[in-house]
Amino acid sequence: MTLVLQGIGVDAGIGTAIGRVVMLARGNIQVEPRMLDHGDVEQEVKRFLHAVEEAAAQLRKIRQQIPKETPADILEFIDTHLLMLEDKAISEAPVQLIREEGCSAEWALQLRRNQMIKVFEEMEDAYLRTRRDDLDHVVNRIMGILVGERKQDPWDIEGHIIVSEDLTPADTIMLHHQGAAGLVTEFGSPMSHTAILARSLGIPAVVGAHGATTLLEPGETVVLDAGNGAVLCECDASTLDFFCHQIQREQAHRHSLQALRHAPAITRDGEQITLWANIELPEDIATVRESGALGIGLYRTEFLYMNRERLPDEEEHLEAYLKVVRGLEGLPVTIRTLDLGADKPCAHHPESTACINPALGLRAIRLCLKETAIFRTQIRAILRASAEGDVRLMLPLLTNVWEAQHARAIIDDEIHNLQGAGVPIDPDIPIGAMLETPAAAITAEHFARLFDFLSIGTNDLIQYTLAVDRSDDSVAHLYDPVHPAVLQLIDHIVQACREQEKPVSICGEMAGDPRYLPVVLALGLKTLSMQPSALLEAKQRIRGLYWWKLRRHSARLLQDDDPMQIQRQVAQLGEE
Ligand code: PEP
Ligand code: MG
Repeated sequence: MTLVLQGIGVDAGIGTAIGRVVMLARGNIQVEPRMLDHGDVEQEVKRFLHAVEEAAAQLRKIRQQIPKETPADILEFIDTHLLMLEDKAISEAPVQLIREEGCSAEWALQLRRNQMIKVFEEMEDAYLRTRRDDLDHVVNRIMGILVGERKQDPWDIEGHIIVSEDLTPADTIMLHHQGAAGLVTEFGSPMSHTAILARSLGIPAVVGAHGATTLLEPGETVVLDAGNGAVLCECDASTLDFFCHQIQREQAHRHSLQALRHAPAITRDGEQITLWANIELPEDIATVRESGALGIGLYRTEFLYMNRERLPDEEEHLEAYLKVVRGLEGLPVTIRTLDLGADKPCAHHPESTACINPALGLRAIRLCLKETAIFRTQIRAILRASAEGDVRLMLPLLTNVWEAQHARAIIDDEIHNLQGAGVPIDPDIPIGAMLETPAAAITAEHFARLFDFLSIGTNDLIQYTLAVDRSDDSVAHLYDPVHPAVLQLIDHIVQACREQEKPVSICGEMAGDPRYLPVVLALGLKTLSMQPSALLEAKQRIRGLYWWKLRRHSARLLQDDDPMQIQRQVAQLGEE
């Protein structure tokens, strides 16, 4: 009998995947104290050293299997673990404990880990403190061998469905590079950055599937049905057959949408809509081109900072930006400055996620205005990239006009410095702001006056307006993009931009969600930036809609105070 595990689906254009489960173990393996008989000591030392060697051999094998095109920072990550394994601090001290105290190998390793963690935690340097994660990875690998844990290697994942308690955005990038077919997590919600990234990388996922790590078995074949937010296991032949056909239907549909690649996104009554793409990595430009996007409305640059030991320098920033700018061949590229923090942890700035409520903490522009050297490095690279194409610079998460003024002063200073040094840049580079907090939305006219363009970040705007953590699946049912408060804030921003004659776009996930597309148009937005995988579907939808019919509905939509009634109106708008 087929068993169904329910969660929340993240449809990445590809909604279905079938594959065997790889369980990504999280958390540390804990062992009980065990003392040895005197005669067993040397045998135990041998057993321990063999486990260390075996762990290193596993890592070397993994390193060889990683495809050539994998970014260097991921290799760096594995090299660090290899170096740690070779370091005497990990391998020699437990041997001493086994010999001198008669501890079992597992117990000696755990004692050593605890000692080292204490040292890490007492370190002044915030970055070094975060190295404890690496220590845990390495210790867990040795411990897994000692306790005989027979789990599949998490790196052997091509074509597999990855099951985990949770995944960071950095994990998701690594899994993508390893060819994962789908992701299932116990926690997380569809608006988390991990889910957004999965969507953008074209990996279907089911998040918030509670019990997944205990109910699913490593190696068993499951169906991931993101469209229905379900994971099916113990499927009989006819169910598997149905989903194999489903995969073929999805492929055929995607193929048929390709016919619209060069067609304009124009409503039935002739209104031109501009469709841009959101990207996370320079590699995404291939899918951007396939989607027929007319530019990039949001380039999330924080992924440059993940899975790596060092902060990226100016040249690395520039190289990434130029790849995108040149790949877009003259189309606009909106580069958003660093938005680390909240659910995008960064080893270099643990304080951005270590506080009780990181979503309200030192995130995005707040971090940049504190760590101005990091901000300036990125600004210089963006300005240098602007010499080679239509580059636009965008600042995230503003709440105050003074933040905007402070950031603009830094940008002006760097423009001045680069021009003084004779470095080619576009001195008139358009500078914009993301409006994604209620404070910024309510005072949108101030921001519209200060900036060349605005973009509405509905993912955060909804989170902060409705006080719903976007990455917490237990409140996902309250995350309502068409809540009257959200609609009114979007409308207010659009009006403010119209009055100031400033362009406005929308770049939150709402823009690419077929359910909300008519609402977004009804509110007067004509430039929409979305995941490349959603773009052709959106274009098809737009070509079937009447702009003025939608606009006529906006007053009714904005007056309604009953969220259920609004949901009904939204469904009707889509049908008309
Ligand atoms: C948003 O908040 O809507 C947005 C596009 O930015 P991010 O999802 O990266 O926070
Ligand atoms: Mg945001």
